[in-house]
Amino acid sequence: MTQDGFRAEDIDTSRPHPARIYDYLLGGKDNYEVDQEAAERLEAAAPEVRPGLRANRAFLQRAVRYVVDSGVRQLLDIGTGLPTSPNVHEIARAAAPDVRVAYVDNDPIVAAHAGALLSASGTNSVVLADLRDPRGVVEHPDIRRIIDFDRPVALLLVAILHFLTDADEPERVVATLRDALPAGSYLVLSHATGDFADRSEAQAVYQRATASLNLRTRAQVERLFDGFELVEPGLAQVPYWRPDTPPPPGSELIGFYAGVARKT
Ligand code: SAH
Repeated sequence: MTQDGFRAEDIDTSRPHPARIYDYLLGGKDNYEVDQEAAERLEAAAPEVRPGLRANRAFLQRAVRYVVDSGVRQLLDIGTGLPTSPNVHEIARAAAPDVRVAYVDNDPIVAAHAGALLSASGTNSVVLADLRDPRGVVEHPDIRRIIDFDRPVALLLVAILHFLTDADEPERVVATLRDALPAGSYLVLSHATGDFADRSEAQAVYQRATASLNLRTRAQVERLFDGFELVEPGLAQVPYWRPDTPPPPGSELIGFYAGVARKT
């Protein structure tokens, strides 16, 4: 057992895990041989994947700053991933020190590694839960301890919904979460797409992983924002969502849509 009550034997090293593939591609150390092999196959199939993930992470930073600058003080980050500096609470607290963050992931390795690092302050929590049970997420006592659902919340669904199949009903999942949030809340979302380049080989890599990669079109991703109003510039590829500096060449091939929207 670790100090977080997590058993080391819960780590499955026989199959690649999305969180660990992502960690490897961002230069992290919390990954195993199966993940490294999968990540390398992914890169061979789609060389823009690594810059795409970096651009996704940069979008996350800009979007967190945006929602905090808009006045939100509570963040619910579902699909946290392994700790990657700067983490969401660090970005948020740089803008406003009183921000509270609840982190959720369904991968035990994330809960184990993130637990110690991300929940040290008492104003964060890390919860092992599954987005496919959205009611279980919003009713979780460790989330309720951090998040007051009567005050605006920024819901972060960044690079996670493409791990839900159509049968998991991502639109219903987001709608259930939306209905738990008061007006003035925000949705921060990014999602993989095949609209800009063929991604079938990348999808093949995830066939052997613990979650499949479900690419969606612009129209499908737009539907996830039902009941929210997209802020400028609307749905954009990650590098083009309110960039701080001009997006580098090659950005037009990056297969992630991103958007930030407000519940009215
Ligand atoms: N949001 C972070 C990390 C994205 S990686 C970022 O954009 O930088 C996707 C994460 O979602 C992984 O950590 C994976 O374990 C998690 N995940 C995938 N399916 C999930 C599910 N059904 N419920 C909760 N977490 C999930």
